[in-house]
Amino acid sequence: MKRISYFLILLIAIGQSLLAQESIFPRGIKAPNVHHTGDIWLSHLIDADDTFDWNVAQAVSAPGAKLDWHLHPKGQQLLITHGVGYYQEKGKEVQVVRAGDVVKCLPGVEHWHGAAPNSPVTYLAISGNAPTQWTEKLTDEAYNAIPVPEERSAGVKEKIKNLSKQKWQWMADKNVDSLAVLFPR
Ligand code: MN
Repeated sequence: MKRISYFLILLIAIGQSLLAQESIFPRGIKAPNVHHTGDIWLSHLIDADDTFDWNVAQAVSAPGAKLDWHLHPKGQQLLITHGVGYYQEKGKEVQVVRAGDVVKCLPGVEHWHGAAPNSPVTYLAISGNAPTQWTEKLTDEAYNAIPVPEERSAGVKEKIKNLSKQKWQWMADKNVDSLAVLFPR
C-alpha cells in the first residue's frame, strides 16, 4: 500500500514537471467540449479594460485537440510557445505551426486552430475585445485528412513524442485537474 502511494506521488511529480515545459503560465481549467473536440486547458491571463482593448489567454491543447471553425470580429494573434499545431483559414491550405511562430488572424476571417495529432501545442491568443463567433463544426474527416507533420529527427524525438503521448493520455484518464489541489503553486 505504502509502495503504491510512493509510486502515485512519483507519477504525479513526473506529470507536473513535464507539464511545466508545456505552459509557462498556470495551465488553467480544462475547457468543456462546446466548441472543440479533445482536451484543451484555458487560462485567461489579461482581460480587456478601458485602456487595453484586447484579451490575452493561454491555451494548452493535447495531441489531436481541435477548435471548430470560428471568427474574431476584432481579429486575433497567436504566439505559439510549445509544440506543433495547425492553423487554417477558410478556402486556404492548412498551415503547420511550431513553437516560435506567430499567426495573424484578420478581423472577420473564418478559421480554426488546434494541435497536430502527434504533438501537443501551446499558444498565447491575443484577441480583440469582441465575442468569438462560432460558425461550424470542424469534422474529424477534415482533420484526419491533413498529412501528419514530419518529426524533425527520429530516435530521441520519437521517444519524447511517445512519452508525451503517454503523459497526455494519463492526464486525461486521471483527470489531473482534481489532483492539482495537492500541489499548490
Ligand atoms: Mn481563433
